[in-house]
Amino acid sequence: MGAVLLAFFYTLNYIKTHTEKVFPYLYYLGSSIFFGVLYWFFAKLKFSISDQVFWKEIFDLTILEIFTFGYIATLFADVESRTALFRDATHDKLTSAYNYDAFDIDLRELFRKVKTTDMKFTMLMFDIDHFKHINDTYGHLAGDAVLKNVVKIVQTVIDNNDPKIKLYRTGGEEFNVIFPNYKLDDTKPIVEEIFSAINHSDTKFDNNKINLTVSMGVSQMSKDDISINDFYSRVDEALYHSKRNGRQEITVE
Ligand code: GH3
Ligand code: MG
Ligand code: MG
Repeated sequence: MGAVLLAFFYTLNYIKTHTEKVFPYLYYLGSSIFFGVLYWFFAKLKFSISDQVFWKEIFDLTILEIFTFGYIATLFADVESRTALFRDATHDKLTSAYNYDAFDIDLRELFRKVKTTDMKFTMLMFDIDHFKHINDTYGHLAGDAVLKNVVKIVQTVIDNNDPKIKLYRTGGEEFNVIFPNYKLDDTKPIVEEIFSAINHSDTKFDNNKINLTVSMGVSQMSKDDISINDFYSRVDEALYHSKRNGRQEITVE
């Protein structure tokens, strides 16, 4: 009977690691009933349980398991739909980068932390150069493919450096990257890596290889910034300095 319990345990574990579903209700239920019957079968032999008691136990066990697993399945379904809702609310549909709402929430929280603790952070804002020209030349769908590819490239650089860095799509072809606990000096090499990776990339679309460049602005939040806007405007100014200066440039302020 111990072996039955052990086999039951291994079966549940096997189901868990070999299924994509978060809670495979039918597999769990099926194996529980199977091992339950097996367990009572050995119990019947060992303790000479009557047929009537045996079948009653199997019946009770089955009912109990249907309800227990059913209840757990509805709880899991709830968690799954909440997770999906939260993801949709914080991520951009086209590129899967964080969206403007997530940016707004995170920036306010970081601003508060810099004001009240020793924390520091830096931010990079970048905008694709002449993106309208890419849309006009290759079409809107090609433009969409470029946006997705840019996010993929930047996210790869981030993942190779520090997964705490977050990328947000804050406008059509405008992005922000927040570096929590970073000073400007530590930010610069990663910004240069992102800059170079995008400028050397090409997006393949409809037999075309689309090249692009970006302009960037970088700054660190200071305790002297009175409002979020003080900080945000500084990063924005840095970006527009790069644009005015001929584009494909990084400005650090
Ligand atoms: P600049 O170098 O000064 O930034 O020039 P630009 O052409 O990149 O900037 P502009 O603001 O003139 O044009 C941005 C374009 O981005 C216009 C808009 O149609 C396009 N755009 C915004 N969102 C999307 C999107 O989701 N997909 C595509 N394909 N295009 C988009
Ligand atoms: Mg642009
Ligand atoms: Mg723009």
